[in-house]
Amino acid sequence: MLLRRLALLACLTLLPAFMTGCAHETSTERAANQYAAQELAAAPPLGNLPDYSLSPEKLAKAQHLEHVRTTVYVADTLWGLAQLVLLLAFGAIGWMRDKAVNAGTGLAANGKPKTSRWVQGYTFFILFTLAGLLLDLPVSLYNQHIRRVYGLSVQGWGSWFGDMGKSFLLELIFGGLFIMLLFWLIRKFPRTWWLFGWAAGSAFLLIGVFASPYVIDPLFNKFEPLQKTHPELVTRLEQVVAKGNMNIPPERMFLMKASEKVTTLNAYVTGFGASKRVVVWDTSLAKGTPDEVLFIFGHESGHYVLHHIVRGITFGILGFLLAFFLGYLFVGWAIARFGARWRIPSQEDWGAFAVLMLAFSLLSTIAAPIANDSSRTQEHAADVYGQEAIHGLVANPQETARAAFAVLGENSFDPPNPDQFMEFWTGSHPAIGRRAAFAHAYDPWAPGAEPKYFPKD
Ligand SMILES: [Zn+2]
Repeated sequence: MLLRRLALLACLTLLPAFMTGCAHETSTERAANQYAAQELAAAPPLGNLPDYSLSPEKLAKAQHLEHVRTTVYVADTLWGLAQLVLLLAFGAIGWMRDKAVNAGTGLAANGKPKTSRWVQGYTFFILFTLAGLLLDLPVSLYNQHIRRVYGLSVQGWGSWFGDMGKSFLLELIFGGLFIMLLFWLIRKFPRTWWLFGWAAGSAFLLIGVFASPYVIDPLFNKFEPLQKTHPELVTRLEQVVAKGNMNIPPERMFLMKASEKVTTLNAYVTGFGASKRVVVWDTSLAKGTPDEVLFIFGHESGHYVLHHIVRGITFGILGFLLAFFLGYLFVGWAIARFGARWRIPSQEDWGAFAVLMLAFSLLSTIAAPIANDSSRTQEHAADVYGQEAIHGLVANPQETARAAFAVLGENSFDPPNPDQFMEFWTGSHPAIGRRAAFAHAYDPWAPGAEPKYFPKD
């Protein structure tokens, strides 16, 4: 719960990155975007598009799944906020704090009382995290059940619960360390802890992004160098790399064995500095043609070359600053107003952590559309980059990109024309139909058109 909320907060101020970095839109790009918007406007809600259509059977599944996804999203968001308010209001947080304080207080050999903050802090954090896990369980179970029914997930329940257990342990280890550090700062600097807390949170974020490809990701999936099993593909990917004057050596291309758990296609860029890499799911290689895989890789190399990870980290850190400052103000206000009722007398009380998490939850809910808007801008930039990068390497870049989106969407049962408000509020990527229509219309090498990232040859 904590890690997810911090991750959402990290996206808080991605937007300014695009205000300065990606706002520029070429006239060719604008025209293709207008074409896509018109195509979606002319089609029925959730219905087929000329550039991305599903069979009647798949369309029905996609439409139903869209309702399920909306329901799960709303339930998850509202329940996430409500459970914290209820835990505070019904005294559960006060009870956890009592248990933690008792567990960490005893008598020393000389008969004097002795307190262990480590025992207190970890006891509180374990109880708090466990409560969140159990309260979130109905929505998580339902979501995974639906994914299995629709064949999006092929993961057995044992493995699924195993993954949940691993996430829980990771949260206890890193979240526990963070709460210990945070409360030491709160006791030491009652008025400026938010500033030091922000610095600590940012350090955790940096270490997390750098280390996760090495230590976190392999706990959940198997990875191997792409070169090992697909040397011929690496040779073709290197053509894309050479074309863009990029520096992505084969050692930084990995294959993830996603097929053990899911049937959907994906690829992503992760890590930074020495851990920076492109990861392609094996499902993408199994279901996409080599040309489509080339485009998917071109899109990912766009994220890599356009420094989307470093930008995300930079503005995530700025978002943390705002979040910690507002969190500090919220904790002060809420304890003054409700502290007596919640039995949380001060910000130094372990229970204040739940109040801070409530502030972070509120902020990340408000920030979700802002973060998603900037994410979509990045994804669109990577789409443009990918399509330009495969020019000259495949017979028809527009059709290759359109077909790649179709196969991506079809395997996830993405509806061709989803509700625009849901796309705006929850979409980390533009709707797949919009991307397919854009790809169809975007030809920067046509007479009079201009490419965005590559010189015209
Ligand atoms: Zn992307």
